[in-house]
Amino acid sequence: MTINKPLRTDVLGIPVDCVTMNGAIDYATYLIEENKKGCYILAINPEKVMVLSKDEVLLKAFSSAALLIPDGIGVVMALRWLHGVAVSRVPGAELMPRLCKMAAEKGYGVFLYGAQEEVNQGSAEKLCQMYPGLKIAGRANGYHKEEDMPELARQINASGAKILFVALGSPKQEQWIQKWSDKLNVNIIQGIGGTLDTIVGKVKRAPSFFCKFGLEWFYRLVTEPQRVKRQKVLPVFAWKVIKEKVKSKK
Ligand code: UDP
Repeated sequence: MTINKPLRTDVLGIPVDCVTMNGAIDYATYLIEENKKGCYILAINPEKVMVLSKDEVLLKAFSSAALLIPDGIGVVMALRWLHGVAVSRVPGAELMPRLCKMAAEKGYGVFLYGAQEEVNQGSAEKLCQMYPGLKIAGRANGYHKEEDMPELARQINASGAKILFVALGSPKQEQWIQKWSDKLNVNIIQGIGGTLDTIVGKVKRAPSFFCKFGLEWFYRLVTEPQRVKRQKVLPVFAWKVIKEKVKSKK
């Protein structure tokens, strides 16, 4: 099977791939079947576009990703408006369970790294209930010291996992992935932020109404007000997109 790499475009100079949910699963499956090592999948949303526009080192880590999924509605709308590209959201929190489903069907082991111990353990159990036959090749909570990292990498490699999920939040997980991806034997690494917290129900994902109308960010702002500091960049993002559009019309 040969699958072309999804087309990479950009939003305000930050790379993002024109890919659907099924396209992302197919591409990840292809990378595993071809036994490509350390290919990583990261999510792009307006917050990250703003952070990356000021952080060259982090931008380099993102640019080397195998797949940059359009995770946030703001990115999807900007892609449509600025480039006329008709993409839909590929939320990282939805891609992760879809990859687990694929792994269960194909017999690929997965490794869960990140979140608090009870969240990590609880999500491993929940995923096995959701996808019978899923092999959790290994798991580790996200509160290990820096000096434990070589041992963790050894455990991940010894587990034989083909997919590694890293749930340390952003930008910690992307920095970790950049540092360790070329030392790991796994084929796919996905940075999944707080997804394990939503799997165990510690953090609720927005009801479908909010997702349908592109208001998941608003739901999170109301239910997790501590995120206001991160989300205050959203109006700046919208303003920059408008400026870019006006500039392109001149
Ligand atoms: N986390 C972790 N180790 C750390 C810091 C954070 O494992 O040193 C975990 C935390 O327990 C939570 C996730 O990372 O499960 C962060 O979730 P958040 O929703 O903030 O992710 P983001 O919005 O950045 O994707």
